[in-house]
Amino acid sequence: MTPKELLARSPIEQYEAEVLLAHILGVQRSWLLSHGDEDLSTEDEHAFMTHARARASGEPLAYLMGYRDFWSLRLIVDQHVLIPRRETEHLVEWALECLDAGDQKVLDLGTGSGAIALACKSERPELSVTGTDQSEEALACAQRNSEALGLEVRWKRGSWFEPVDARDWDMVVSNPPYIAASDEHLVQGDLPAEPESALIGGETGLEMLEHIVTEAPGHLRPYGWLLLEHGFDQGEEVRTLLTERGFSNVATRADWSGQPRVSGGQWQN
Ligand code: GLN
Repeated sequence: MTPKELLARSPIEQYEAEVLLAHILGVQRSWLLSHGDEDLSTEDEHAFMTHARARASGEPLAYLMGYRDFWSLRLIVDQHVLIPRRETEHLVEWALECLDAGDQKVLDLGTGSGAIALACKSERPELSVTGTDQSEEALACAQRNSEALGLEVRWKRGSWFEPVDARDWDMVVSNPPYIAASDEHLVQGDLPAEPESALIGGETGLEMLEHIVTEAPGHLRPYGWLLLEHGFDQGEEVRTLLTERGFSNVATRADWSGQPRVSGGQWQN
């Protein structure tokens, strides 16, 4: 069968089918256009149909292909980590704006694949970056990423601040689970296949955000920043949490679709 014929039989949407077939053949997607009438091997045909069926039954494309591009990095992902999202790039952007040049200490809580920690380190090699996660499997994925990318980040296992002794962070960042347990989004898109521990914050969804806001002042240096990703409808609540805890310069930034997505503040006490 040729690429054209195989794509015509694909059980999934055309663009994703092309991305998947190019991945299996180890070629650029554009190659499929110029070689659309050449014969494929039966192994490649078989591999494509197996993956395409898995995709059709809800498996995320990122897990099937084993990676997702985030910031300027190609990150290895598996079913133990949240698939990095574009929204989170706004957190990275803001973090880089707040950091001075020099050897500052950044802590990424619930790092998952290591996306935020690695993106910060890739832009500012002089930073000292640590990522924590309670999941051993997630940290193994983060470790594979730091090795593959040649970026030195310390990975520590444990819940939120628990595995770090230092109380002198210049910045704490996190994309914690922030979806309410009853939220209907949990059955949509890639979410059913992703780890619940990376998605569900508790009954209201705010529980983990609140925990981090409460604990952060005990770990930040004076003028250190706390930046948190949150749900599109949680901006006001997160700003209130930050202000009531004593943070200054509290603000929220929108994501690419205009939704409030990241809130943060500075610890000036
Ligand atoms: N941004 C993800 C989503 O809503 C959720 C990630 C998270 O809970 N941190 O699809």
